Amino acid sequence: MTESSSPFSWAEARTWLAGLPDGGGLNLAHEAVDRHVAEGRGTRVALRLLGRDGSATAMTYGELAELTNRFAGVLTRLGVGPGDTVFVLSPRRALVHVAVLGALKARAVACPLFSAFGPEPIAQRLHIGQAAVVVTTAELYTRKLRAALAGLERLPLVLVEGDDAPEGTVALGPLLADADARYRIPETSPEDPALLHFTSGTTGLPKGALHVHEAVVTHAATGRLVLGLRDHDVYWCTADPGWVTGTSYGIVAPLVCGVTTVVDEADFDALRWYRILDEAQITVWYTAPTAIRMLMRAGPDAATGADLHRLRFAASVGEPLGADAVQWGRSALGIEFHDNWWQTETGGIMVANRPGVAVRDGSMGLPVPGITATLLRTEEDGTLCRGDDGHPIEVRDPAESGQLALQAPWPSMFRAYLGQPERYARCFEDGWYLTGDLVRRDTDGYLWFVSRVDDVIKTAGHLIGPFEVESVLNDHPAVAESAVYGVPDPVAGSVVHAAVVLRTGSGAPDAVLRSVLAHSRSLLGAAVAPRHFVVVDELPKTRSGKIMRRLLRARELGLPDGDLSTLEPSHA
Ligand code: AMP
Repeated sequence: MTESSSPFSWAEARTWLAGLPDGGGLNLAHEAVDRHVAEGRGTRVALRLLGRDGSATAMTYGELAELTNRFAGVLTRLGVGPGDTVFVLSPRRALVHVAVLGALKARAVACPLFSAFGPEPIAQRLHIGQAAVVVTTAELYTRKLRAALAGLERLPLVLVEGDDAPEGTVALGPLLADADARYRIPETSPEDPALLHFTSGTTGLPKGALHVHEAVVTHAATGRLVLGLRDHDVYWCTADPGWVTGTSYGIVAPLVCGVTTVVDEADFDALRWYRILDEAQITVWYTAPTAIRMLMRAGPDAATGADLHRLRFAASVGEPLGADAVQWGRSALGIEFHDNWWQTETGGIMVANRPGVAVRDGSMGLPVPGITATLLRTEEDGTLCRGDDGHPIEVRDPAESGQLALQAPWPSMFRAYLGQPERYARCFEDGWYLTGDLVRRDTDGYLWFVSRVDDVIKTAGHLIGPFEVESVLNDHPAVAESAVYGVPDPVAGSVVHAAVVLRTGSGAPDAVLRSVLAHSRSLLGAAVAPRHFVVVDELPKTRSGKIMRRLLRARELGLPDGDLSTLEPSHA
């Protein structure tokens, strides 16, 4: 992959990619894996896999090519191909890489799921995405998937890692062993669907944002220009593949750039993380504010003895990274965290503090090459303000915040919300994609996050839609109504709280709340379920009947009802 010194254009970034042999089009998995083998890099380590049990194994690009070929062959033999969706519910292991990239080779759509979800969010996503296949482990099948499948009309085929499969599933091990190690990727159009990622809004069920193979152009360009990935880097993305960062920048971008990716199966642990940075000789690290705040909590002693001098570039994404965290990185670790911004729909990084460009502590940075951004004046309820000509009004005053809008299209822009064309169309206005984020822009063009325009909650970097949680709470026999909102938290950014109206005669509130908590944890999973409940007599609503979640949050924090501005995450 070579870069010229000419100004950046997407057309130029496309030339960095190989394309399928014989003019067969553009396939993301070919760019990520096979291309390196064809160009003589097959013995390079693609994945360094760290197990929960302390194990460490390596997989070369050549081995990954063979395994993904076998997986694509298995799918083809099972009649799974273009138009079918292959879900992956797995801990952070090579299984995710093999299933996602193998599915892309077979031109199926790949959709990784967050393994900390409970059965309800899993079931919703399998239903909306019309799952043809789910690839998982025996443990996750037994603990979560079996319950999730119980309510589905159309049952997917369940492929389970290894040689033993629980009843009702098929063991993947023998199928892979029988499959051909060679696979010819069929002709693939850049506009063929490739990746499906679910995200949430204030209302309604999760939305399936669909991305196409062309997205790999953004992944290649941002991998190189924003994360600064280059030959022989050892890269670590700490995000779970069940969220978009863990796929776009945990799987695709580093492989496309031909570097070695470290994949750690274990959960956060400060000592373990410093040991990985040191012993795995990480040169580029992509992490998140919640993790950085947890490292801050663990104190500088946790890093004692860890040699971090090989770390050339560190980046953060997913929630606001406060100036204090950037300054702490610099002084305590000698690391400069580069904040960047994007979302599921954008498919790739859109705004960033890039290598070689001065970091402004607390700012998300500048639009990346190839992206034009503006701010559009937006009412407090999220509606766009319009000028006399009916067009949106661009905000130019650095003191005024506006909704961040990006000029469409770009290669990794989502192409649909599955089955919701109107909702998709509502995201665009006058050629701008509306992000739903309020930001400020200083006189030098740096963007500063202010808040969301809607009520979605970012907790530990995970986006939670209040309606999805409320629906589960309302299913509890003692709950008449509920409202779910985020409350500022010094580590997780926000945590999920719920106000519930209990049905009369439902019993002692304490016992009822314990039962509601258990109900929500078992169905939603601990990562999504509310951490705290309050009982209220009624929910505050607008005249049109919409729940005023921000008001509940303000009340809980003891703020005056009208004083909502002080609650925004940048002040949290
Ligand atoms: P998701 O689609 O789950 O990746 O969530 C995207 C949302 O996360 C954005 O719309 C923002 O609200 C938030 N977000 C992502 N990156 C940042 C950042 N660097 N600073 C502040 N908020 C961010």
